[in-house]
Amino acid sequence: MNIILMGMPGAGKGTQAAKIIEQLNIPHISTGDMFRAAVKEQTPLGVEAKSFMDQGQLVPDRVTIGIVRERLAKDDCANGFLLDGFPRTVPQAEALDQLLIDLNRELDHVIYIDVAMDELLRRLTGRWICRDCGATYHAVFAPPEKEGVCDHCGGELYQREDDRAETVANRLKVNFEQTNHLLAYYESNGKLERVYGALPIDEVSKHILSVVRGTVS
Ligand code: ADP
Ligand code: ADP
Ligand code: ZN
Repeated sequence: MNIILMGMPGAGKGTQAAKIIEQLNIPHISTGDMFRAAVKEQTPLGVEAKSFMDQGQLVPDRVTIGIVRERLAKDDCANGFLLDGFPRTVPQAEALDQLLIDLNRELDHVIYIDVAMDELLRRLTGRWICRDCGATYHAVFAPPEKEGVCDHCGGELYQREDDRAETVANRLKVNFEQTNHLLAYYESNGKLERVYGALPIDEVSKHILSVVRGTVS
């Protein structure tokens, strides 16, 4: 199963991806997570990506497409993949189409998690992430059992640098236009499936899984 999970920052892509891959046994490929790992390890990719990420800007398409091309060629993608946060621009979507042709694969689902701006702001400014396993929490909407500690692995929770109020506003602005172009792209080729995202986490998951399993169209 080859799936793209789309949505503005804070729409719940990471949260939902974690649930979907558990059910479908495919790898979760998040370009944001890959860039953050590269920044942490200070690889050349990380050094290049950091300056863009710190300002809430998108990393250039050339760089982003390159890392996805390498990732999709790995063995664990043989049965499918869940892309989270890629593509984010029309050139990225076009590059992905070409890449899938080369790999003799097709997209099964392009799912857009739809959430209004004011809710996105509330979610991003309250987001906490586990330093060790990457699990996502929210101070109010999805709190851990013990403050500051990951339920899954006991790791320390932190807030992302780019989730500060100043950067969040810019990130949402940068993403809004790109997202609209991308929605039009997948709408025009009949692939887009929208899921209403402003419901409790488990209800959004149910809806996404029913789309993926083909019990809803
Ligand atoms: P969010 O959780 O806000 O949806 P991500 O974790 O997906 O954000 O991405 C964090 C940052 O990584 C982005 O602000 C951007 O700088 C970079 N990034 C991630 N995916 C892409 C992409 N497909 N194209 C360009 N930049 C990206
Ligand atoms: P994205 O990967 O799209 O940027 P995340 O999955 O990181 O989004 O979610 C952003 C924040 O919102 C996190 O703090 C998460 O716990 C919270 N969240 C995710 N889905 C929901 C939901 N359906 N209702 C309330 N809060 C949510
Ligand atoms: Zn953890």
